[in-house]
Amino acid sequence: MPLVFVALGANLTDPVTQLDNACKAIIELALCSSNSTLQVSPYYRSAPMGEVVQPDYVNAVVGFNTTLEPIELLDALQKIENEQGRVRLERWGPRTLDLDILLYDNQTIDSPRLTIPHYGMKQRSFVLVPLADIAPQLLLPCGTRLERLINAELTAELEQIVR
Ligand code: ATP
Ligand code: MG
Ligand code: MG
Repeated sequence: MPLVFVALGANLTDPVTQLDNACKAIIELALCSSNSTLQVSPYYRSAPMGEVVQPDYVNAVVGFNTTLEPIELLDALQKIENEQGRVRLERWGPRTLDLDILLYDNQTIDSPRLTIPHYGMKQRSFVLVPLADIAPQLLLPCGTRLERLINAELTAELEQIVR
């Protein structure tokens, strides 16, 4: 069964609870087979990207096996975003929940609705660090080892949330 990694982010309406609820929704939607579990990284606080003035984010990454095709997975994740009150106003604006597909097995996908690996993942500390927490040995489809992208500067951009 394909192994996928999804980045979670929230900065409105109790972000930690938003991420907790998103993890539950991903499990409840039966994206995970009975013999696989949801791997959840630590939660991290990060500064917002871009120019919009907004609260800090809480970010994490989850990994799980799924029988859903990539586009079906996107639909399911967007449904969860919408159910948790996601409103799209401006690019990189504040949100109750963002769920981005980082990796779908070793596949590379470039379609109008879906780009995998996620186009920004190699530049984003709040993606790379939690991903490495749950999958330190990961080899990206481009052939780069994940651990080679992690450094002290990246890690210093994040504050782990003690829970
Ligand atoms: P960014 O993609 O820079 O993190 P964002 O997450 O705020 O920004 P969204 O508004 O959540 O952007 O998504 C915009 C569109 O991106 C979605 O409608 C979706 O079709 C598309 N998209 C392309 N590739 C992916 C992916 N790997 N995961 C999630 N959405 C994707
Ligand atoms: Mg995003
Ligand atoms: Mg998104």
